[in-house]
Amino acid sequence: MAKARVNCATDQCDGHMDYVGSNRRSADYRAKKLMEQGWTCRDCDNREAIARADASGLPPLEGTEKQVGWAATIREGVIARLDRTMPVALQNVGSTCTTILGREVEDLIYLIRNAGEPSVREAAEIFRNETEATFWIEGRSMGLANSLAAIIRRLADEAHAHTPESKAAVAAEQEAMAEATLRPATPVSETIAELTYREGILYARYDERSDKFNDTVKRIGHSWDPVARAWVRRHSSLMMGQAVDRLAELAHELLAAGIVVMLHDTEARGKAIARSYDPEHRRWVSLVPTGAQQGKLRLTWGRDEDFYRAFKSLPGATYTDRRCLVPGTARDEVLDFAEAHGFRITPGAQARMEEVMAQRERGVVVDAVARPKAEPVKVKERGARPDRLAVPEQVEIDSDLVDHD
Ligand SMILES: [Zn+2]
Repeated sequence: MAKARVNCATDQCDGHMDYVGSNRRSADYRAKKLMEQGWTCRDCDNREAIARADASGLPPLEGTEKQVGWAATIREGVIARLDRTMPVALQNVGSTCTTILGREVEDLIYLIRNAGEPSVREAAEIFRNETEATFWIEGRSMGLANSLAAIIRRLADEAHAHTPESKAAVAAEQEAMAEATLRPATPVSETIAELTYREGILYARYDERSDKFNDTVKRIGHSWDPVARAWVRRHSSLMMGQAVDRLAELAHELLAAGIVVMLHDTEARGKAIARSYDPEHRRWVSLVPTGAQQGKLRLTWGRDEDFYRAFKSLPGATYTDRRCLVPGTARDEVLDFAEAHGFRITPGAQARMEEVMAQRERGVVVDAVARPKAEPVKVKERGARPDRLAVPEQVEIDSDLVDHD
């Protein structure tokens, strides 16, 4: 490896490069040859490209001195390609076999067929007259057809922005958004939370990392769904009331936390503003409809409330699978508990309690849960002398079977 210096052929220019050859002799020989051929440095080439551009009638470029120099060289090459390929493309637009014309001409032919000759000619004229140095530098590796297609798209967008239809659509969208937006007196941020309800799910979206927002939606019962990229909550009309009321309440809570809210649903918005929504009732006695705990009564309450101690004092109360459960046989105690603490009872739980009453009247108190491995338990009518029950030793008596009368 050997290096030889190649000097720029321009008078007064000390521009140069190091020519690297495999050995001294070869490097010196190549450097000598390049200088004989009048090698010029890049600065001189750029200066010359600028001079040639002025002479050819291309507009002067804008940018820093270095950008303008480089862009002039790029533009010279690209426009030479355009002048060479465009006439060929225009001539062969109707041709069935375009492959032999080369990739660049072929791409131009497709563009002319799709966008039409006048559009492509107009785009080529705009392209030629682009004066931003960075336009040429950034687009230096883009194909000609792609560059022209981008200009055609831009022109179409610009043309559309001037049409009455476009202006009307933009204005309507802005008005609708302004109307749908509710602002707190002193917003903590200008980011807008968007609340929607679709297909049984309540969505809350916020494009800002905010503890205020997250805490509020979590407290209401939303959880993060990474797929929907939103805080979601499944809506159950049985215990949550109307979806429109839940939207209005969430909007109200967020506004109270200083967050700007967008709510497209007119009814929900009206309710949020007037505070006329039915607040969500959070204390419920419901029925476990399926699974191993089927037929048990479930107690739920608000996240900021604590009824656990009171719940645990109910007969047969268990905390299973993160659920507070009570056997149906504890009907009387559950009813007293519900009345004392303002719990509501779902129709399913109501029916279960009535079932327990009916069984009691018949003198039969059997829990509805089928124990897979246990023998069916036979219970005699009240008052009759019970036989010895043939219950296997390993089966424990379910607390539900205890008669609390
Ligand atoms: Zn030079």
